[in-house]
Amino acid sequence: MKMYDVTGAINEGMTVYKNKPEKQPKLNTITNGYVTETRLDLDVHTGTHIDAPLHMVTDGDTFETIPLDNLVGQCKVLDLTEVENSVSKVDLEGFHIQKGDFVLLKTKNSFEETFNFDFIFLAQDGAEYLSELGIRGVGIDSLGIERSQEGHPTHKTLFANNIIIIEGLRLKEIEQGQYFMVAAPLKLMGTDASPARVLLFEGLR
Ligand SMILES: [Zn+2]
Repeated sequence: MKMYDVTGAINEGMTVYKNKPEKQPKLNTITNGYVTETRLDLDVHTGTHIDAPLHMVTDGDTFETIPLDNLVGQCKVLDLTEVENSVSKVDLEGFHIQKGDFVLLKTKNSFEETFNFDFIFLAQDGAEYLSELGIRGVGIDSLGIERSQEGHPTHKTLFANNIIIIEGLRLKEIEQGQYFMVAAPLKLMGTDASPARVLLFEGLR
């Protein structure tokens, strides 16, 4: 059994959404004698993270409503590294995606270390297609599942269909195929997202 860690590292100076300084984590380390303690100031959308409906829907469900059962289990990594601009329905149709699948979209984004304002995102018709299929969740290797689409249709379509959204995955080393995924967010209550450690296991069913 081989394990892959597809989580982005969290540190000061890391890649953050649109390079906004206010999105940088702050680590404040204090040493008193031999005792060291660090305080961490962190946006819940930092690095690899899972969004809750509240993020894009007024009065939407908060983070703890996402069932952990849906974050652990089989997933399919789809190689979309040839796709330019956005992943749309036509790009997804050939993959035999089925109801209940958790799909991870591997794009060119996984090969970039700095924030690219033209990152590959999931287009509205791609989100609608995945919703029609009835998937469990979708993950992408960019810090946003859409760029700045007016009205955020991709997020809203997915949330309306109870599809979990993971953003900020690092899939460079991961070949297309089926894996066992453990996506373990912090047990945050009342928030619109949470950072998560995401692990993929090969040969585990
Ligand atoms: Zn987010």
